[in-house]
Amino acid sequence: MKKFNELKIKNEILQALEFEKFEQMTTIQSLCLKDILEKKDVIVKSKTGSGKTLCFALPLANEVKNKPMVIQSLILAPTRELANQISLEIKKVLRFIPNIKVLSLCGGTPFKPQVASLEVGAHIVVGTVGRILQHIHETKIDFSSVNSFVLDEADKMLDMGFYEDIVKIAEYIPQKRQTLLFSATYEKEIEELSSKLLDKPLFIENVETHKQESITQKFYETNEDRKVDDLLRVISHYKMKTILIFCNTKAMCEDLSTQLWNRGVESLTLHSDLDQRERDETVILFSNGSLPILIATDIVSRGIDIDNIDFVINFNIARDETIHTHRIGRTARGEKKGIAVTLYDKDEYYKVKPINEKFPDIEFCDVLEYEDSSYKPRAEYKTLLITGGKKHKLRKGDILGALTAGEGLDKDLIGNITILDFVSFVAVKNEVLDDRLLKLGKIKIKKKLFKLIEK
Ligand code: ADP
Ligand code: MG
Repeated sequence: MKKFNELKIKNEILQALEFEKFEQMTTIQSLCLKDILEKKDVIVKSKTGSGKTLCFALPLANEVKNKPMVIQSLILAPTRELANQISLEIKKVLRFIPNIKVLSLCGGTPFKPQVASLEVGAHIVVGTVGRILQHIHETKIDFSSVNSFVLDEADKMLDMGFYEDIVKIAEYIPQKRQTLLFSATYEKEIEELSSKLLDKPLFIENVETHKQESITQKFYETNEDRKVDDLLRVISHYKMKTILIFCNTKAMCEDLSTQLWNRGVESLTLHSDLDQRERDETVILFSNGSLPILIATDIVSRGIDIDNIDFVINFNIARDETIHTHRIGRTARGEKKGIAVTLYDKDEYYKVKPINEKFPDIEFCDVLEYEDSSYKPRAEYKTLLITGGKKHKLRKGDILGALTAGEGLDKDLIGNITILDFVSFVAVKNEVLDDRLLKLGKIKIKKKLFKLIEK
């Protein structure tokens, strides 16, 4: 494994990587960073969770110039969640490089404040396709100084039908630029898009793509009438704690969630019918350990980096092996190990076969009919919403301080803290529940009172 200090990059960036405890490059990083730093156009194909974000975040952070304050990089991503994660990752790399503005321009959030931010200026823009186009049409957004153009999760953006829109956006960026395309698959349409937008690109593929050795896959044959009970048997068998369940349709997600509810098992759903705020909240609750089961469509099977998922369950087997690969990639992020379970009906065996060809290590198991299914996954944390956020200049330390020094909570009882623009979310261990604090419904942070609401 290679170390980052073998690259010709700024010291501040090496410090930032050290700060993040990124000691070595991941395989895909060691394969492509040198070429990307040399400004070549590159197509990178690698599985989810392999560390692709840094492959562009690092070079563009290394290159960005503080003055003049013009947009030098544009990164397109399929969803707002993903765009926000990319912004975060870039900011991590920029930790010790002051005064660089990274701006997120995504749909699902008000347009006007974005226009105001743009007027102040930005060095790096991360956005979703639709919203970037809207800015091109309705504001004076200026991409004439962009020298690096990044398409992250290009396959997903094409699945969403953005081919023409991406090409359109590219027309507003100078031809003399570096273009990078990241994808977990490489199909015909991607090839077309690359030949249109990239200049003599290198194609770099992570040969480990298909190994997925850190994920144990178990397949269970079941049938329609006993499927939900079999699901609960499997969950009981492994005493699962954080579980991401995939269904093929929104309706299936809702239906399964209701059926679980009827059996006393708590879950939330995540799909495109929910508005952005609900989706954000659900992702926060799930990733901070306050929600044991998240039932989702393939909207989350790519890109979003939710940590600590122990189990992925395909309640509906995926349509093809590419989707399957994306789904199971949600577990075993980084160096962790994970288990992916797939339930299938006998008459769905034709879908199992191609997946099994790609993953020969799949273990086929029987659901134990007499297995106890009474175990209920329980969240370790509860989430509290605080009615103050970045706009109130709240930082993690302020909230942590208010809860510990201010309210006398033990630090070990407090989990993730997420600060959004106007609200914040704090995960606290369940035992804090009937605390005086919650009855009061208020908390004093930096001498100001904020409302405290249990989610
Ligand atoms: P991908 O885009 O390939 O799905 P990400 O870029 O989201 O993967 O990275 C997955 C996780 O691995 C992230 O949490 C990221 O911070 C972490 N990561 C990336 N590079 C390294 C590294 N060199 N060492 C340790 N962790 C890393
Ligand atoms: Mg990614």
